[in-house]
Amino acid sequence: MRILVIEDEKKIASFIKRGLREVGYSVDVAYDGEEGHFLATTSDYDLIVLDLMLPKIDGVTLCKKLRNEKVITPILMLTVKDSIKDKVTGLDAGANDYLTKPFAFEEFLARVRALLRRIESKQVSKLKIDDLEIDLLNHKVIRGSKEIELTAKEFALLEFLMRNEGVIVTRTMLSEHVWDINFDTYTNIIDVYINYLRNKIDKGFEKKLLHTIRGRGYIIKA
Ligand code: CA
Repeated sequence: MRILVIEDEKKIASFIKRGLREVGYSVDVAYDGEEGHFLATTSDYDLIVLDLMLPKIDGVTLCKKLRNEKVITPILMLTVKDSIKDKVTGLDAGANDYLTKPFAFEEFLARVRALLRRIESKQVSKLKIDDLEIDLLNHKVIRGSKEIELTAKEFALLEFLMRNEGVIVTRTMLSEHVWDINFDTYTNIIDVYINYLRNKIDKGFEKKLLHTIRGRGYIIKA
């Protein structure tokens, strides 16, 4: 996944770049609207993070310009003022979502993932981490050369973890997205399912992919 960040404030740009790289995205940064326009139209990106106030070409103008030029890459607009007018202007210009500065990186990342998931769920039929591959259309799971049988719930759990590769997934996220209900805090059903899944996808393999982050949740990564 390749992300273009168009942001003139060097501190914010490098904070975003570093954070995104840490979770495995490749990132290019443009420091003004013109440079951003050049990169957005000459390279392929999965997502553009676009600041509203930019030198040379401002965010709203650039957003409209890209959409007019048939660039359909999802755009996450960064705004400073949390006014309804700014949001509407950004969305009208063709942005897919917006986030108000200052923001917590976790929230930023959640927005990024949500936008990327929208394209993934349309385009991708297979997810792969290391030698583990799942086929979303046929519900098949293969690790190395071995086919693994999963129940429907185990498959949904694995799919959610793999769509969030490299990101800590909390128990709350799992209960909301995989079970569609909020468990009370004392139930251990998630841990039970994580164990089932771990026994099936990691047991007997030297490299472990599914990890427990004590007190925070779970992560799948190569
Ligand atoms: Ca700015």
